[in-house]
Amino acid sequence: MYGIDLGTTNSVISIIDNDGKPRVIENKNGGRITPSAIFTKDNKEFVIGENAKKKYGMDPTHTILSIKRLMGANEKIKIDEIEYSPEELSAKILRKMVDDANEKLGINYNQVVITVPAYFDDNQRNATKKAGEIAGLEVLRIINEPTAAALAYGLDQREPRTICVYDLGGGTFDVSILTIGENICEVNSTAGNTRLGGDDFDEILSKWIIDIFERDSGVLISNQTVAISRIREAAENAKKQLSESNEADIIIPFITQDENGPVNLELNIKRSEFEEMISEKVQETIECVKNAIEDSKINKSDISEILLVGGSTRTPLVQKSIEEFFGKTPNRNLNPDEVVSIGAAIQSGIINGSIENIILADVTPLTDRKSTRLNSSHGKLT
Ligand code: ADP
Ligand code: MG
Repeated sequence: MYGIDLGTTNSVISIIDNDGKPRVIENKNGGRITPSAIFTKDNKEFVIGENAKKKYGMDPTHTILSIKRLMGANEKIKIDEIEYSPEELSAKILRKMVDDANEKLGINYNQVVITVPAYFDDNQRNATKKAGEIAGLEVLRIINEPTAAALAYGLDQREPRTICVYDLGGGTFDVSILTIGENICEVNSTAGNTRLGGDDFDEILSKWIIDIFERDSGVLISNQTVAISRIREAAENAKKQLSESNEADIIIPFITQDENGPVNLELNIKRSEFEEMISEKVQETIECVKNAIEDSKINKSDISEILLVGGSTRTPLVQKSIEEFFGKTPNRNLNPDEVVSIGAAIQSGIINGSIENIILADVTPLTDRKSTRLNSSHGKLT
């Protein structure tokens, strides 16, 4: 049995090992995280993951990103005259995750637990289940991402408490206030922005790089697709580096050429400069946290734990801002991009009995949830 975090940007698969501990299973390329990117051309084989993500810059019409955004929508995606439903495309990702894991472990499992955002409605949950079925999988349960995170942190075994799960991913942000009781996990409120995430940081940094490059070199590159996609990739890498160090070098050899020959891009950025660029976006997430707390009717001071979820919570400014707002240090003992999948695996272990001393953490269905507040700043789907 596997636990799968089917993410908008990245997906992760985990299993409960023989020793009863959950662990992430690497994909064929050795990656613990697989981009939820799909590439297909001329009705040939589907490419999923890192290689598909790389294709996006050069061949966007054959590459699909963020298919999760369309789950449950009555929309088709046309590639080379063939129409696919969002479920069919998500099924390709699920199949790839399970195939890689099965191959790695030398087994042939097809039972899975899949996570979805707490704000997904019944339609979106059913679509996710259907994607699993199309992939030939048996979907044992669909659970909420924040609940999975709480399970991964082992927050189910202790006394009742209220926690905050802050999830900043690639293209989406959501925050949930959960009450964890003896054997139930209730989502009190959710707030967020389905168009806010690490992609925005990449975009902002890319613009900064392009502006400086064009100003210093006098060469215009804004209309050069390949150059722009290389800048985007370099920006994401620099962003990640700035989570570890105080500055980052951005070097792209032969980004373009002028009448004198090849032109290279070489820049340095300080963490403080980057933080200034993204501070408005980060502040937006804090506003959502305020809304979620307000809607939950729970006092901020009664929130005993803050869990950080999503790759973008590795950004130091994000951590700092949350800490400042709550006046306490958020919990980030687990890898933020793996914690949801780990929780899904734990849920699968509870179902099949390989994990015994945990009481079933139930998931409150959407209709029972007290409040959801979502905005989407750009509006367009895809
Ligand atoms: P999702 O849940 O949206 O599918 P993830 O939780 O995997 O996605 O988050 C992906 C985002 O996290 C990307 O924007 C990625 O650039 C960002 N990210 C990953 N590692 C880091 C890091 N070290 N520092 C800052 N951002 C990071
Ligand atoms: Mg996620």
